[in-house]
Amino acid sequence: MLIRNIPILVGAALASACVAPPGERPDIASATPDVSDARCANAGMAIDTSFPAGALARCDISSDGRVKITLSPEDEPPINCSPWYAFRVHSSVPRNVRIELDYTECGHRYWPKTSTDGADWTPLESDHVSVGKRRLPDGSEEEGASAILTVTIGEDPLFVSAQEIFVPATYDAWLDRIEGTQGVTRFELGRSAEGRLIEAITIGNPSAREHVVLVGRQHPPEVTGALAMLPFMETLMADTPLARAFRERFLVTAVPLLNPDGVVHGYWRHNTGGVDLNRDWGPFTQPETRLMERLMADIDKDPDKELRLLLDFHSTNRDVFYTIPDELPTDPPLFTRNWLARYQDRMPGYEVERDAQHEPDRPISKGYSYETYGIPAITFEIGDNTDRELIRRIGVESAIAMMEELLATAAP
Ligand SMILES: [Zn+2]
Repeated sequence: MLIRNIPILVGAALASACVAPPGERPDIASATPDVSDARCANAGMAIDTSFPAGALARCDISSDGRVKITLSPEDEPPINCSPWYAFRVHSSVPRNVRIELDYTECGHRYWPKTSTDGADWTPLESDHVSVGKRRLPDGSEEEGASAILTVTIGEDPLFVSAQEIFVPATYDAWLDRIEGTQGVTRFELGRSAEGRLIEAITIGNPSAREHVVLVGRQHPPEVTGALAMLPFMETLMADTPLARAFRERFLVTAVPLLNPDGVVHGYWRHNTGGVDLNRDWGPFTQPETRLMERLMADIDKDPDKELRLLLDFHSTNRDVFYTIPDELPTDPPLFTRNWLARYQDRMPGYEVERDAQHEPDRPISKGYSYETYGIPAITFEIGDNTDRELIRRIGVESAIAMMEELLATAAP
């Protein structure tokens, strides 16, 4: 099928754009799409997913140009409703297109965003999205079983995605930008199951006694966690008196992208081994989680090093810290309570939410790190829909509060 692009002025005044972090513009849109790769084509339109994070279960275009996208998880039953989608719509003529997202297993979660270059994203305006109901056999209605989007396809093919596309190339661009920073070292931690590079950085004093570990993106769709983690790390690298003092005393090892395979494939939850990586801390059956096990064990077994903290960045329906309860002793003592109090003080008008629970046998990063090393370990969750500028501020202010609180602890 021949896809011809005709220039058109695309609608102006697009509000509240999501913009990739400065300098991070993964070049995912440059290659001319080969529409022979289309997942579906009809009525002068085609849809493809041949770019990193591109994913859908099935697509259909009717003869009158209506699009239906079916989403389903990579495994059954879905262990977490995280219905990721990312696809690109081509049209031979400019037009408005009605796209139905059929969520099958899981309801609506991610507000659709569009982009023509894969780097700058705009949430669809609310009057262009209708989240639908479905009548169940018992007569009740299920909310959010589908969503109808109306998008305008112009001169360029249009990306439609659950969140900003934040893929290995995005991290590479960020790492390229920060790697010359004083006190920052970039290295290969290891490889994913499919052989993708898993990179890490250290920030701080290589001979420091006290070590902090950060990890991100165990779960592929959880882009907002990444949008907080990058400014968090940049704050630790900053040329400020606080950050310099912190870097004198501590060494941070950060692994921003633990599941590159899952991100590239657009999985809802897993790595390519079909395992939720944040249910594998303990069993360590997967190459990605084994890298974290070894990283922490190597620090712990060195008599000149002490693990002090683990932070694990994720996304959920709201901003929340999943923590170990204060009643359970950690070393440093009461770090979590004190850190979050400092952070709250820095965020007037914003309510810091904490949910403290500990299930010793649950193989997640938080529980494992606490059970194994006695350190404070915290799942740092950012809301799917949290304002992107606020996410940046969360990253910066929580990092400042963490540095202040760690510097206030007694040296081991
Ligand atoms: Zn998660």
